[in-house]
Amino acid sequence: MNDNQARIIDIIRGTTVDGPGFRTSIYFAGCAHHCPQCHNPQSWDFEAGRNVGIDELMEVIKEEDFDVTLSGGDPLYQPEVAGNLIAEVRKTGHKVWVYTGFTWEEILADPRLLSAIRNAEVVVDSPFDCTLRDPDLLFRGSANQRLILVEESLRRGEIVTYPDKR
Ligand code: SF4
Repeated sequence: MNDNQARIIDIIRGTTVDGPGFRTSIYFAGCAHHCPQCHNPQSWDFEAGRNVGIDELMEVIKEEDFDVTLSGGDPLYQPEVAGNLIAEVRKTGHKVWVYTGFTWEEILADPRLLSAIRNAEVVVDSPFDCTLRDPDLLFRGSANQRLILVEESLRRGEIVTYPDKR
């Protein structure tokens, strides 16, 4: 697999649960976080789904003309292609949210992960913790997960979160 090809399980058009507004959500294959009570354990398999080029993904994204969410699985196990895809989406003027089981601190400590999320609007970080599950939380499953505004957090050197109100 090269940096312009992703292993994905699914593309969902027009979803409203993976960030604000209607969105195109791309579910990457593979996750090694193995959170207890994960909502999508079939996504853990790195061989699940199919290989798709960024060009093909961009065709769907342009056709739908929505903001985009990368989820999974965990897209940051494919950091190069995720970063390249985010950069392409940003050229269209659309924003990207990234769901990951890595913490913000782990992302900052790993140049490959940091490079991948640099052009995203929001990173929803941290593994799902079933002991902190709360169905009333906005766009995330457990209270340890954060909606992190990427650009402002990097600029200020501290975590700045997306306004947590409906
Ligand atoms: S990070 Fe997400 S996909 Fe991965 S095991 Fe945890 S809840 Fe499941």
